[in-house]
Amino acid sequence: MKQGSFTDDGWVDLHIHSTASDGTFSPKEILKMALDLNLRAISITDHDTIKGTIEARRHLTQKDTELLSGVEISTSLHGDTLHMLGYLIDPEDPALTRALSGLHEARKIRNPKIIEKLQQLGIELTYDEVLAVAEGEVGRPHIAECLVRKNVVQSPDEAFRKYIGKDRPAYVDKYRLPPAEAAKLISDAGGIPVLAHPFTIGIDSEAEMDKIISELVSKGLKGIEVYYSEHTDTQFALYKRMAARHNLLITGGTDFHGARKPQIRMGTGKGNLRIPYALVRKLKEYKETGRPNETSTRGGHTT
Ligand code: AMP
Ligand code: ZN
Ligand code: FE
Ligand code: FE
Repeated sequence: MKQGSFTDDGWVDLHIHSTASDGTFSPKEILKMALDLNLRAISITDHDTIKGTIEARRHLTQKDTELLSGVEISTSLHGDTLHMLGYLIDPEDPALTRALSGLHEARKIRNPKIIEKLQQLGIELTYDEVLAVAEGEVGRPHIAECLVRKNVVQSPDEAFRKYIGKDRPAYVDKYRLPPAEAAKLISDAGGIPVLAHPFTIGIDSEAEMDKIISELVSKGLKGIEVYYSEHTDTQFALYKRMAARHNLLITGGTDFHGARKPQIRMGTGKGNLRIPYALVRKLKEYKETGRPNETSTRGGHTT
């Protein structure tokens, strides 16, 4: 832990995937794990679906960890994928629900096309086999898992590198929302749009990052995921400066996927992540008042 970190207020994990998308634990199991880990708040942020949040809410009891409603929407900025988290949304919001069903349809159109391409490459894999390993939204991680099971590749990462990653021979793009639309849907559903894992944008230059963040802020972005399992100390510091400069809320999470990303643990990521509850307080204050508050947020992050 760095100097200045504290533990008396509790730790959180605001980026968790369940079986509603490509995580391997059900929302109910996640609630139990969060309680066992003594986390003070969590958010289940499944890809393009709020079903994980809705199911967790159904199981939530008084003694459970605080649950923030959440979602992670795939958007497209200048042709590149950019994930946007939405916190404290109304999970029953009709417009959001409608838009997410549209993204669900886009997956249903894309996934068989990927399978077809794999088949053309001589790989014997059927769509049914992929559906059999998924419970909720079906994505490339499920396809990668099938390729590992069939010994076509040794790891999901190899599946992405060789076949299904961007620009690889079995890659097929799918419809993604423009960031402005995703941000509006989230805000109109009473939520807070947050840029997920900014390191995936692939920019290290401060000036370039500044430009992208300005653009996203003009499209309605309100927060940035500064605490993240894969962020280096340098990236953590850069994103924290971005938050300060653009008056953005700060969030953090591990991107826990259970057995599909076995190196990432709920609450602590690769073992050294600590995300302070103070961030949640600020999100809730923002939702109440429409303004980020001014008190400082300290926390610990080491790599
Ligand atoms: P999809 O939304 O179906 O296109 O799948 C995208 C998801 O695949 C991302 O959210 C990641 O969780 C996962 N993913 C992307 N690249 C990799 C990789 N190289 N190794 C493992 N998982 C990946
Ligand atoms: Zn995922
Ligand atoms: Fe993501
Ligand atoms: Fe995620």
